[in-house]
Amino acid sequence: MTESATEDAPDCRQCGEPVESTSEHRVVTTVEAGTTVYDYFCSDDCLERWTTSIDP
Ligand SMILES: [Zn+2]
Repeated sequence: MTESATEDAPDCRQCGEPVESTSEHRVVTTVEAGTTVYDYFCSDDCLERWTTSIDP
């Protein structure tokens, strides 16, 4: 893993593409073991697929 200049562009949790700061992207906040985790998605489509994949 290398840290590059992508601090403002997190990767989409679903497809791995950089999430651009557009109105399309979605951010889901979850709390795991007391830690707030932010999951970024480039679109509603990716969010829906990811949500489906973790829901048995
Ligand atoms: Zn995506």
